[in-house]
Amino acid sequence: MTTVAAYAASAPKAPLERTTIERRALREHDVLIDIKFAGICHSDLHQVAEGWGEAIFPMVPGHEIAGVVSEVGPGVTKYKVGDRVGVGCIVDSCRECDNCKAGQEQHCTQGMIATYNAIGRDGEITYGGYAEKVVVDENYVVRIPDGLSLDAAAPLLCAGITTYAPLKQWGAGPGKKVAVIGLGGLGHVAVKIAHALGAEVTVLSQSLRKKDDGLKLGADHYYATSDPKTFEQLAGSFDVILSTVSAPLDLSAYLSLLKTGGALVNVGVPEEPVTFHPFALIGGNKILAGSMIGGIPETQEMLNFCAAHGIGAEVERITASEINEAYERLAAGDVRYRFVIDTATI
Ligand code: NAP
Ligand code: ZN
Ligand code: ZN
Repeated sequence: MTTVAAYAASAPKAPLERTTIERRALREHDVLIDIKFAGICHSDLHQVAEGWGEAIFPMVPGHEIAGVVSEVGPGVTKYKVGDRVGVGCIVDSCRECDNCKAGQEQHCTQGMIATYNAIGRDGEITYGGYAEKVVVDENYVVRIPDGLSLDAAAPLLCAGITTYAPLKQWGAGPGKKVAVIGLGGLGHVAVKIAHALGAEVTVLSQSLRKKDDGLKLGADHYYATSDPKTFEQLAGSFDVILSTVSAPLDLSAYLSLLKTGGALVNVGVPEEPVTFHPFALIGGNKILAGSMIGGIPETQEMLNFCAAHGIGAEVERITASEINEAYERLAAGDVRYRFVIDTATI
């Protein structure tokens, strides 16, 4: 066992404070990773607040982990000391079900083991990336290509795969019109990836205050959803709409922006239900879909794609002592576009 410094919430809605946790002794296929950067995802806020239901405390959040391998177990074949690696939302799964075998570990029929706020298959509580080090089985670790800096890569481990997977699944590419609702952590990466895939990209944000940024990130168009004219102008326009919104939303008006047979893919997980009127869905045979992160092979594919296209997250680096302030700012939408903790400051 290794004792490492970490930041944890001791109870629901409690501020994050410095503490220590134990990381397990390396097993056959484990790697020990010196964490360099950990992104702050809105999912961290939802879980610390118990917004998705009962959670496990103390909680060390963090599932956007970038670091360097510092030790390997005797049976490790994929990584060696010094390798630049990442860990996302999944640290284990049954490895035997059809979904695991298909590289869709997030849909493991036995239940995926989340990087934090979960009980591992060994019965131990999992603790996430707001920490100096983490021990993870090599099969749930991905390689960060040389072209990507570790701070800009960290958010790709959740925000990147969560947007890449549905954009690929729903055919974002040349000749397709894609809209992204919400220009936050997920949204800004979605814009970069959809643009790199060759789609015509529109941002649907609450206001025009981030318009210049959105266009620089690769959007072709930018509209404010607070302006009712937006919905008249864009009616029937899009092949795919990706909603990354972290708050409850009525999707009816957004469904009206789809072409006949178009798909609105919801990836946001607000704490209250998302609603829509059935007429908004049945008129035009629209599709309302969901998508949850992505499996390990596709996460590696996404990182390789991002490196090839020069895509990293736009990050604001913070020290560990600034985590609570960052939580307040993220809740208020005051972030451009991902807070990343420099874990050397823990
Ligand atoms: P974020 O950085 O806070 O971005 C969310 C964006 O949603 C905001 O920047 C804002 O964009 C928009 N928004 C916020 N409140 C809104 C409201 N009341 N009405 C309309 N738009 C609003 O959060 P994130 O880290 O990208 O995460 C987004 C959501 O995805 C969270 O719920 C998170 O839990 C979830 N998530 C899901 C998965 C998955 O597997 N499906 C994975 C990761 C995260 P504008 O300012 O541009 O309007
Ligand atoms: Zn996340
Ligand atoms: Zn499985």
